[in-house]
Amino acid sequence: MALVTRFAPSPTGPLHLGHAYAAIIAHDMARSAGGRFLLRIEDIDQSRSRAEWEEAIFDDLSWLGLTWETPVWRQSQRLPAYHAALDRLIARGLCYPCRCRRADIRAALTAPQEGGPDGPCYPGTCRHRPMHEAGPDDAIRLNMARALSEIGTSLTFHETGPLHSGAHTLSEEWLLTTCGDVVLSRRDMGTAYHLAVVVDDAAQGVSCVTRGEDLFAATAIHRLLQALLELPVPTWHHHRLIRDAAGKRLAKRDDARALSRYRAEGASPKDLRHMLDL
Ligand code: GLU
Repeated sequence: MALVTRFAPSPTGPLHLGHAYAAIIAHDMARSAGGRFLLRIEDIDQSRSRAEWEEAIFDDLSWLGLTWETPVWRQSQRLPAYHAALDRLIARGLCYPCRCRRADIRAALTAPQEGGPDGPCYPGTCRHRPMHEAGPDDAIRLNMARALSEIGTSLTFHETGPLHSGAHTLSEEWLLTTCGDVVLSRRDMGTAYHLAVVVDDAAQGVSCVTRGEDLFAATAIHRLLQALLELPVPTWHHHRLIRDAAGKRLAKRDDARALSRYRAEGASPKDLRHMLDL
């Protein structure tokens, strides 16, 4: 089976060195295996996504010498597929509507938490609410305990990245106490990151999910959703993060590291690869 990888940026700011690294890793991995490389625009957050950032993504990646398949999928055009997946989980009694705001959740927590891949572990305030009560002001959450008992067997996934290489078994306890009832559909979006990414990776036949190690912890949620939705299971490759001189991870607002800045200063794509040890 051909290797299929993807780079899945959100068009909410300029691409920086870290994005270039992620895109090149996914691209080169597919090319060297004679596989396919996809670009997916993750624009479900329409309040932050901008057409001009999307244009800038295409422009920067072309400049880097990367090529990808067209048409490019945009998550904003995939809402019916996310709704269908959510409806399947709802029909199995695994979801509930939640009206809590961030401040309510913080106030209901007994102790301050670092939080897991979906933020602080939701204390369960709305867990008793039936789905027929769901209104436009509600998010939809996954009842994690129910989802785990529905699966009933321990799930595993395979990682090929440098930091966590090998087979991993999902820890039920960690999913219950650190992730908790993750959001599957946000109030204004009709979906949420974890659901959209799992549905799209399966629909596009992605066989190896490459992304930064900051998303490693989210993989357990994705593996669980794949099991619940009976989707094919890819392998994962979480790569190192590119950091600034102070060791801080680069952020979108870090304009100093924007690719466009390096381009304007006359760097070549080769220089960029060199800087990234690629
Ligand atoms: N869209 C996500 C981001 O820009 C990446 C999601 C993923 O690769 O799973 O951080």
